[in-house]
Order: sequence, then structure tokens, then C-alpha cells
Amino acid sequence: MVHTKGLVLREVDGVADFPSESDLTTLELDLASAHYLGRHDEVDCFALPLDVEPAQPFVTLGLRGLFGRFDEATFAVAGRALQIAGWAETHRFCGRCATPTERDPKERCLRCPRCALAMYPRVSPAIIVLVRRGDEALLARSSRFPVPFFSTLAGFVEAGESLEETLHREVREEVGIEVDRLRYFGSQPWPFPHSLMVGFTAQYVSGELRPDLAEIAEAQWFLPSALPTVPPRLSIARALIDAWCAEVAGASAGA
Ligand SMILES: [Zn+2]
Repeated sequence: MVHTKGLVLREVDGVADFPSESDLTTLELDLASAHYLGRHDEVDCFALPLDVEPAQPFVTLGLRGLFGRFDEATFAVAGRALQIAGWAETHRFCGRCATPTERDPKERCLRCPRCALAMYPRVSPAIIVLVRRGDEALLARSSRFPVPFFSTLAGFVEAGESLEETLHREVREEVGIEVDRLRYFGSQPWPFPHSLMVGFTAQYVSGELRPDLAEIAEAQWFLPSALPTVPPRLSIARALIDAWCAEVAGASAGA
């Protein structure tokens, strides 16, 4: 169940879990408004938008409050639920002619019955990159992080840009250096609010570190043996950092 404030969970003895089918009956909810999310743990999952936040035993948690509370697969379902319900809630009218939209019966699409404009859930790709120089890697502290930790560089893809162009531009803008030898690492949906993080590694080529102080408060080269506080597990930033540390450790063990 999804409210604009977050995911509505049932809380029993301080432990929050997904509501059950009987909760839906108790709350007299309209199941026709549910969005199918896919299967998780062999159970079909749906997102059901709520206009009114239900009282106890239900609690409403924003996505950041859910991070770390569930395993990776369950968190992914929660993120998908919030994204889909949020998309439906913000696309109730056609952006071109203001007619109320209708759900397409065949695909995940909201369509205008008057002018046929089709609206799909928005996904915003962003690159995330671990830049290496010898055994060192570049980590930066964002001026926007609520807690001070160092992470890989990241930035949103602009309209008309390739992932490679975004990567070169972001690295140049954020820390003022040039890189090459881009290698794809992996990707991760990041539902804050609807990103897809596309991970790369790259090699340092030239330039002095000049953090753009608006977004990056501090940037430094680090060795795996002297890491600062890094992002939590489950994030692709951490996976990039862990993979680099393992590779450097493996290389020195083999040398
Ligand atoms: Zn329209």
C-alpha cells in the first residue's frame, strides 16, 4: 500500500512488514486500482495507492526509512511500488490536453483517451564511476550527503547525451580531471526517486583535482589500506569500491 508519504506497512511488536490480503478487506480498499509489480518469494506483488494514511497498526515509511530494513530483493519491490504508484499519481491528466488519463490494459502505460498521448514510468539514467590511478581510487565527499562519507562520482545523463559523454563531463565538472579506458561494471535501479545507476570504472589520464565546491566538498585519492567512511552495502557505489579493493589485494597477493 502506497501513500504519497511512503510505503504503508503493518507493524507488529516494532517489526514492520507488508500488509496481508485480509488487511485490504479490513480497510475496504479498491483492488481495481492496484498495479502489478511482479513476483517476489513466489508471491504476486501489487502496489495499491492510498489517499488516506491508515492508523495503527499501520505505519508509513519513506524509501530512505526502508533502506537497510529489508534484504535487497524486498527493497527492490518496495522501490518499484513507490515508483509505479508515484508515476500513476503524477500522471492523472494528459500533459498535452489535460484530459484524465486511462490505464492501458496491455502494458504499463497511462494513455490519453482524447489525443492518445502515452505516458510510461520515468526512468532517469545516471552514471557512477570509480576512477583509478595505479592502486589508488578517487573518492569524493558530496556537499549534499546528510552524513559525511566518501563515494564514487555520479551524475545524471542529460537529454541527447551518451553514457560515455556524461561520464567525461561529470568527472571534468566535479573534479576537473580527464579519464579514459571506460569499462562497464554493472547497473542498479535506484528509486530515489526513479534513477538507474549505470556503473563504470575509468583510468585517470591528466589534471589536478579541483573539486567543484558546489556539489563536491572534498575529493582525494585513496588506497584500499586507508579507506575513509564509504557508502553502505547494497549500493552500487559500495560494490565498485569493494571490487577495486579485492582486485588490488589480489594483485599484491599474486605479486
Ligand atoms: Zn491528451
